[in-house]
Amino acid sequence: MADMKQYVQDTLDLIAKRDPDQPQFKNTVSKVLESVIPVLEAHPEFKEQKILERIIEPERVITFRVPWQDDKGEVHVNRGFRVQMSSAIGPYKGGLRFHPSVNLDILKFLAFEQVFKNALSGLPIGGAKGGSDFDPHGKSDNEVMHFCQSFMTELYRHIGPDVDVPAGDIGVGGREVGYLYGQYKRIRDSYDAGVLTGKRVDYWGSLARTEATGYGLLYFVKNMLDAKDISLKDKTVVVSGSGNVATYAIEKAQAFGAKVVTCSDSNGYVYDPNGIDLAAVKEIKQVRRGRIKEYVETHPQAEYHEGCKGVWTVKCDVALPCATQGEIDLESAKALVANGVIAVGEGANMPSTLDAIAYFQQNKVLFAPGKAANAGGVSVSALEMAQNSERLQWTFEEVDGKLQDIMANIYKNAKANAEKYADPDDLVAGANITAFVKVANVMLAHGLV
Ligand code: GLU
Repeated sequence: MADMKQYVQDTLDLIAKRDPDQPQFKNTVSKVLESVIPVLEAHPEFKEQKILERIIEPERVITFRVPWQDDKGEVHVNRGFRVQMSSAIGPYKGGLRFHPSVNLDILKFLAFEQVFKNALSGLPIGGAKGGSDFDPHGKSDNEVMHFCQSFMTELYRHIGPDVDVPAGDIGVGGREVGYLYGQYKRIRDSYDAGVLTGKRVDYWGSLARTEATGYGLLYFVKNMLDAKDISLKDKTVVVSGSGNVATYAIEKAQAFGAKVVTCSDSNGYVYDPNGIDLAAVKEIKQVRRGRIKEYVETHPQAEYHEGCKGVWTVKCDVALPCATQGEIDLESAKALVANGVIAVGEGANMPSTLDAIAYFQQNKVLFAPGKAANAGGVSVSALEMAQNSERLQWTFEEVDGKLQDIMANIYKNAKANAEKYADPDDLVAGANITAFVKVANVMLAHGLV
């Protein structure tokens, strides 16, 4: 045990030495590696073949200049990235994020998580992440289009339906995927629908892709609660965010009979004691591209609170963080536990800090880690790739049915490995171990590459 603990520590020291400016990446890696120590013990060949040194190093990192002009004719230059982390199991796969906070540290941690998330899906996809520090907020359609075209004018040479398949993430939705796809098609002069996922259905996106992350989250949480004979019916649910993940998490939670009382955006949160009116949220966010505080204008019983952290002080049975990384810190975790939360399901990527996760687990809160619980989005992306390859489109019911099976399998495998190697309810360890063993074994089979 001591030997493998030391091996993990040496690997983390290597990151600190090589990339001292990448604390988030190191943190994420530390949590994953710590949980796979029992597996390293059982498989000495992983250490002999330097699997840890290999998985922490992206296969390729691309950074590039993205010049574009705004509506007033002023020139701007942003930075573009694509981190191609692992192609062991399939073509690189993962979203593009457009947000001012984007930097290499964040994208490397997201790409690292994506490798394991994608492995959990059981589908043939490797892991990547990309994006830019461009801020789409307040930009006109025209400006967003010019930015996307410039971004793709460099990215196109690094991607392809069997090479690397980007999709959306924060700040990149259907509109952006459309502009990116249009530019790719124009440059390549080829209708490679499978080069991007999250496309609109009329140009060969998958039905249920928009809903997939939020629905998948609820399918996962339901599996986790069913195993404890707990029903979602009449449970009070707190959701953060009001983007794609949050919207469809709310929709499915309500379909399961739960009462969702909050949603939020980066300015603040809404609390509606009658339950969130989802049609109003969709109208504000999807149609008007407005701010969530507009909700209270038509719902006088609801309250709007500035700032996002307060959402975790609302009493609930189930908390579903669906906004962004690090949104539940230790203080918020304590507030949730003090208010009697039973379960937390991560719709966003890494929304709980490591000390918050530890606090939930110490207090026996059922915890569904994002890389397992939010894998529904990328899973349906892989189904979109399959549909594009066969040049057919499946029905909503067919895709949703497959999504339910995928989420049930992810839960089952994570739970089985938690029982085998860790605390039986530790789905963080269970998910990390399931994914790690799969990726590491494939890497061994491919030789020293
Ligand atoms: N951005 C999503 C994620 O974090 C989806 C990625 C994809 O569909 O490729 O998993």
